[in-house]
Amino acid sequence: MGKTIIISNRLPVQLEISNGTINAIPSVGGLATGMKSVHSDGDSLWIGWSGLVEEDISEELEPKIDQALAEHGSSKVQLTKEDIDGFYYGFSNRTIWPLFHYFMEYTEFEWDSWESYQAVNQKFADAIVEKADPDDTIWVHDYQLMLVPQLVREQLPDISIGFFLHIPFPSYEIFRTLPWRKEILEGLLGSDLIGFHTYDYERHFLSSVRRLLGLEVSFNDIYYEDRMVEVDSFPMGIDYKKFSETAAKHANRKEEELSELQKRLNLHKNLSPDAKFLLSIDRLDYTKGIAKRLNAFEYFLNKYPQYKEKVRLIILAVPSRSNVPQYQLLKREVDELVGRINGEFATVNWTPIWYFYRSMPFENLIDLYTTCDIAWLTPIRDGMNLVAKEYIATRTDRSGVLILSEMAGSANEMNEALLINPNNFEEIADTLDRAINMPLEEQKSRNAVLQKRLERYNVENWAKDFMGSLTEQGQKEKSYV
Ligand code: UDP
Repeated sequence: MGKTIIISNRLPVQLEISNGTINAIPSVGGLATGMKSVHSDGDSLWIGWSGLVEEDISEELEPKIDQALAEHGSSKVQLTKEDIDGFYYGFSNRTIWPLFHYFMEYTEFEWDSWESYQAVNQKFADAIVEKADPDDTIWVHDYQLMLVPQLVREQLPDISIGFFLHIPFPSYEIFRTLPWRKEILEGLLGSDLIGFHTYDYERHFLSSVRRLLGLEVSFNDIYYEDRMVEVDSFPMGIDYKKFSETAAKHANRKEEELSELQKRLNLHKNLSPDAKFLLSIDRLDYTKGIAKRLNAFEYFLNKYPQYKEKVRLIILAVPSRSNVPQYQLLKREVDELVGRINGEFATVNWTPIWYFYRSMPFENLIDLYTTCDIAWLTPIRDGMNLVAKEYIATRTDRSGVLILSEMAGSANEMNEALLINPNNFEEIADTLDRAINMPLEEQKSRNAVLQKRLERYNVENWAKDFMGSLTEQGQKEKSYV
């Protein structure tokens, strides 16, 4: 059994350079945590972009960067500024991201960025081949690297390759509009195992494979060239323990240990003890339905005026991809909506919306999750939505209501939440009313079921499950050949 090689667009470490010295800080994101079980000891390697473009890495700096990354089991792929523009901001985020989230009107089909995507995927594949031994296992992550499995397979025909897509796979009718649809499918089919968050994404993929490539599909196996490719769903979980334990710790803090944010939240809670706090946390992305949610909030306040001064919406919007024009437009739209709605409804005692445009440290996220009575998440389309799972994990006393869009992958596993269609304002307003009045016993019984499920299928088990299936697939294939 060889080593495991993990490949993602970004490495799970952040590089900081000051006075010629390099500091590598491990990131704390969900993927990095999930991979811990796979990537903790010496027999694994993580390959990805370091976040620094080639133009900014001097000859003198390079060995130091390599050394710092090696200490974290990582190795870099060198990308130029032009690569980042074409491959990342171009093809990944102006073609694949909007198309796979059903935003046809935002999707650009540019040859130049497609060429850049191919070239950068080749760079990633070359970096893998340089480091890989034939008995290694390779796990490729996400939509930026969909050609990598095939490009590696060409050079290492017998190596074990898994691929996981962290965003939705769209229905055939959407996917077929992509000029490079066959190339993308063939790129993915270089894998032995292809994983999706949900069964629906898996079904859409299989349908595209059947209709665009005419391949034979039996259940979730695809017969491709002389190999068998397995397709399956693995809904990604969270680091449940980290969220629930931090929340439990927070609940026992003394007054002087509280964060400034928590003190402010408490102050406002004390001013109006029966007021409900609604929370939404998302990257500022058009797929998350932030503008729609604000409009729905206005609709709700007009339909149920008795809640004026009785509810407060806290919106945390994390800056994202701000050099893609659609994101700049969205930022302006959200700023304006918040201003208009606050202007329309505010009283001397009450501002209906608190809007934060920034990212928050983990401890503050926990403060928000544990203080807010209702989490209200309305993505128009979302591969999974981990925020929904994190909110539930922090509710250690089992109070709290989750209102979640049906269009989020996580809704498949969270039937006990109040599920809504993000386009149906009438339903949203009535659901907010229901959530505000939900008896505590009902909250607890719903959350008890959700917590049990999330605790069991945490991110570590997700990673183990995927790796287990990949190993099994390797054995099955050997007997197939
Ligand atoms: N998050 C964060 N800092 C913040 C706000 C959110 O690190 O200030 C995290 C949050 O805890 C969650 C992730 O960002 O783990 C968002 O994941 P999700 O699946 O909900 O959406 P994505 O951004 O991946 O589309």
